[in-house]
Amino acid sequence: MPELPEMENYRRLLNQRIAGQVVTGIEVNREKSINVIPNLFIQTVLGQKVVTVDRRGKHLLFQLQNGQVLLLHLMLGGWMFYGSEEDKPKRTVQVRLSFGQHHLYFIGLRLGYLHLFSEHDVQRQLAHLGPEPLENQFTLQSFLSLLEPKRGRIKAKLLDQEFIAGIGNCYSDEICYHAKILPKKDIEDISNPERNQLYESMKFVLNDALQHGGYMENPFYQGDTLTGGYNNRCLVYDREGEKCHRCGGIIIKEMISSRKTFFCPNCQK
Ligand SMILES: [Zn+2]
Repeated sequence: MPELPEMENYRRLLNQRIAGQVVTGIEVNREKSINVIPNLFIQTVLGQKVVTVDRRGKHLLFQLQNGQVLLLHLMLGGWMFYGSEEDKPKRTVQVRLSFGQHHLYFIGLRLGYLHLFSEHDVQRQLAHLGPEPLENQFTLQSFLSLLEPKRGRIKAKLLDQEFIAGIGNCYSDEICYHAKILPKKDIEDISNPERNQLYESMKFVLNDALQHGGYMENPFYQGDTLTGGYNNRCLVYDREGEKCHRCGGIIIKEMISSRKTFFCPNCQK
């Protein structure tokens, strides 16, 4: 499932292409992907300028000129492609937004969605989300005070969108690995220096992943060499049985809080 770096990568690429552009065509092939009847969806969005694309956690917000917002969550298996009809991947498209000769294709939206909300309602939808880990206001002090009252395993807490927004199964493992902390470690057993390191590792891993285009498998446009660049840079995620680059130990997979979790039992404590 795309996490903060993947969605932020999409947001940047989208803004370069569709910010200020008018939606000239809409195709809804899967009504379940939207939250209103297709006619109303089309009536509200068609002819509107996309003012900008924002991100909150793992969501993207397409801000329309009329004050309405398209709220996107790709969930598991969802992705986007931008290009001409000829460039279009041979995949089933659930929703298509056209911008003249170019189209934005929403693909693999099974649990994912593109919902239409007013600005007020979209804020309500996102009100439960915790802070953005890459924002400057998210200081070490704010992280430490958020973590202080928490109990349970660190992996489960990192996945909790109400705790911090945007981290999922891959980056929680990568962050714990970078911080040399076992993902199953109880929060109360994490020392103060380890807490500081966890904060530094969170910033480092998310920024590094973003810089390398995240781990999405599919390119966003024809000739896209950025998106997915992080795929081969994961140090523990999906590397069960492989060697740890840090200590030579063997990466193992365990179910932690009913999620597949990868770590090095040798150098993570
Ligand atoms: Zn190791």
